[in-house]
Amino acid sequence: MSINKESNSLSANVIYDCTPFTHLDYPNHLSCIVWFSECNMRCDYCYNKDIVFAKNAEHSYNDILTFLKSRKNLLDAVVLSGGEATSHNLKEFCQSIKEMGFKIKLDTNGTNSIKIKELLELNLLDYVALDFKAPKEKFQQITYSNKYEDFLSTLDMLISSSIDFEVRTTIHNDLLHVEDVNEIIKELMNRGYNKKYYLQEFLSTESNIGNLQTATTKFDKSLLSNDLEVIWR
Ligand code: SF4
Repeated sequence: MSINKESNSLSANVIYDCTPFTHLDYPNHLSCIVWFSECNMRCDYCYNKDIVFAKNAEHSYNDILTFLKSRKNLLDAVVLSGGEATSHNLKEFCQSIKEMGFKIKLDTNGTNSIKIKELLELNLLDYVALDFKAPKEKFQQITYSNKYEDFLSTLDMLISSSIDFEVRTTIHNDLLHVEDVNEIIKELMNRGYNKKYYLQEFLSTESNIGNLQTATTKFDKSLLSNDLEVIWR
């Protein structure tokens, strides 16, 4: 993406790249995707390795705001993705985006619940896609993070809010079995989640953090709980 440089309080270079146009990421919206560098997890199946380990991101918040000024009336939303967008300060950036009239979708692993709470309270988010990485017993093994309780705080906050959101899980069959997904469904139900639950299968890519190959274990969909409406992507 070609963007001009500026420098002021939003001049920190924390953005790895920007996809200028997509209609696939935020349902029914024309969006750009802002790819924030760094993440507080290390999921083995993560194919955004370069973004997660990026220490010298090339673009600042201001670069993106300048780009957005040229996209008024052409895009209607901005997707904050990564990496983990909430690893960075988002309040001022989101306020500027909203002042320009764009909606905001946040893709998140949910572990920075305090930051997400602040964004929700300020009405700076329009949609959240929350990753439910694994049930409690496997959370650390899959994410290399011990923030399961923080993730649950975010989940509870979203359930009790009026914001539109979805919960989704990526499945590598050697890591996460059908029993684990049923455990997640049970946890979601117990907490009052009653929306669609999205499952996406691991895609074998040239590289990923754990150098994973295609799974050898079969995921038996016939054993999947039907307590929630499951949508495969
Ligand atoms: S898949 Fe895991 S490591 Fe990769 S960006 Fe998402 S939360 Fe971070």
